[in-house]
Amino acid sequence: MDRPVLSLDRPFTYDLPEALGGRLGCLVQVPFHGALVRGWVLGPTGDVPGRVLRVKKLVSPVRFFDEPMLQLLLWVSERYVAPLASVITRSHPPRVASEERVGGGVDAEGVDGNPHGPAALRSGLPPPSHAPPFPRSAKAAGSTAGSSVIGTYKGGEELVAALAGASGAFLLRPAPVDEQRVAVECVAAALAGGRSAIVLVPELDPLPATAAAVLETFGGDAVLFAGGSKRTRYRTWLDLADGRYRVVVGTRPAVFAAVRDLGLVYVSRESHGGHREERSPYSHVRDVALARAEVAGAVCVMAALCPSAEAVATDAREVSPSGRWWLPVEVVRPGPEGRAPRLVSALKSVTRGFLYEPLPGYGVARVCRACGEPAACAACGGVIRAEGGVVRCAVCGADGRCARCGSADFGIVRGGAERVEEWARRVVAVPVRRIGPGQRPLPPGDREVTVGGVEAVKDVGPVGLDLVAILDADIAARRPGLAAKERALATWMEAAAWASPRGRVIVQTRHPNDPAVQALVSGNPERFYRTELTHREEAGFPPGWPVFRVAGTADVVAELEERRPRTLLASAAGDQTVCLVVLDRGGVPAFGDAMRALAERGVVARVEAEPHL
Ligand SMILES: [Zn+2]
Ligand SMILES: [Zn+2]
Repeated sequence: MDRPVLSLDRPFTYDLPEALGGRLGCLVQVPFHGALVRGWVLGPTGDVPGRVLRVKKLVSPVRFFDEPMLQLLLWVSERYVAPLASVITRSHPPRVASEERVGGGVDAEGVDGNPHGPAALRSGLPPPSHAPPFPRSAKAAGSTAGSSVIGTYKGGEELVAALAGASGAFLLRPAPVDEQRVAVECVAAALAGGRSAIVLVPELDPLPATAAAVLETFGGDAVLFAGGSKRTRYRTWLDLADGRYRVVVGTRPAVFAAVRDLGLVYVSRESHGGHREERSPYSHVRDVALARAEVAGAVCVMAALCPSAEAVATDAREVSPSGRWWLPVEVVRPGPEGRAPRLVSALKSVTRGFLYEPLPGYGVARVCRACGEPAACAACGGVIRAEGGVVRCAVCGADGRCARCGSADFGIVRGGAERVEEWARRVVAVPVRRIGPGQRPLPPGDREVTVGGVEAVKDVGPVGLDLVAILDADIAARRPGLAAKERALATWMEAAAWASPRGRVIVQTRHPNDPAVQALVSGNPERFYRTELTHREEAGFPPGWPVFRVAGTADVVAELEERRPRTLLASAAGDQTVCLVVLDRGGVPAFGDAMRALAERGVVARVEAEPHL
């Protein structure tokens, strides 16, 4: 039923008259509590109640899912305790009914009896162009064959063999210079095996270099399934279901792309925050990709310079370069105002470089000059920051006023990207450009040094800089959130990867033995995760364990305790009770059933999977 609420999240039984021609995955209209609502055909049932209403009509000639896709959709609904209706709705672009006149969807044949069936609609139109599956793919593969990079990696031959026709999960840690190339090689290997590929990237603007490389290599066989008008997106989805493309590149929704003969789901930069769905079903594309590959008998590759704790916690086989391949990283202590002498002297001779500074602005207000109180926002008590010549609360955005006396005159402790830009200009011989909020995150040009934070570090392909410096590394430990350090490490490694193999990477820290710093030095987060594991277990949130945020009435706490969770934290929020609950993976299906029953009783109002911690 197209009612995305947990309390109605179960199949309903109707009589489907054969004359309608509806099949599994079809969108139909049915009577429900005196109204007409839409729903999808989930298949026949042996459990038929006494009185059964009839399906009124077939809404569309398109099939929105087939049997294996339904398996995946049900898996997402179960794993994330999300209404199947919202999972189905998110699995394809919104319908543009007029486009259905030209396309076929997931095998639209068989809607005989429908006067608007595709046979009638397609007359006079050219047949859908099916890409020749083998010859062109082989040619595309040929452009990289003979000098395979993956073949030289540890575990690489195993991966290539799986891509040729088998299944499995792999954790790929490419050398920085290989990041785009290994993605292209994986896709080529899947195509050479007569199968198709989905490449998932975390964002689109700017288009990641990995996405661009795949689209360019596979030309007419590949499609970017994202962005564009509503009509274009739906048209592309119909074309995919028609088998028109062998390679799909896109963000989260593309994991459901209706390609045929799926051989590979490739998740690029799998540790990137953009891979998490921020609305129901709150799924993570890495997990859905693993499930999709399993259902389809395909290969899932999780690729990242710095893989996530969750990816490391899976039993995926690791594929990484053999021999020494990570860049040498120099660890230095920050000098006055965060400038280590070694960094300053390196900057004097640099012609292309990047200074990573995670803090924005020019500095932070420490003390009110009028009354001498420590500076705090008058509206919310937050940190007051000088940015772009204005003093503002970094938390609520209010004008910077002293919480005690209302003065706007503060003693500022300098530090942040604006300040780094200022002092770097006096040291560096080439122009210095700061990537501010809302500016395009272009990497440094020839003879240029850029300064930027996390928004500047993107998948732009090999950059080859003389120098990459990580400033204020110690801030990561003070950021809120269980995974803050992990995210910082991923950004450091992605920034460090911009250095040329002959370039320098300098990280400034007061804690050179910090496991995250050591992971940056070694180019491998594994040991860092081992220490993190203890830390996260002590906090009650071990990586890989499902976490849910449940909101409901006060009764919800006792109900959740009955599920014997690993961790249960409850707090009151207005007239609701909000709980964080950590479960054993095997306990999720029963937990989901209980939440659905509690939603029907009005005890549970909302369930959100994998909230940010
Ligand atoms: Zn404030
Ligand atoms: Zn004051």
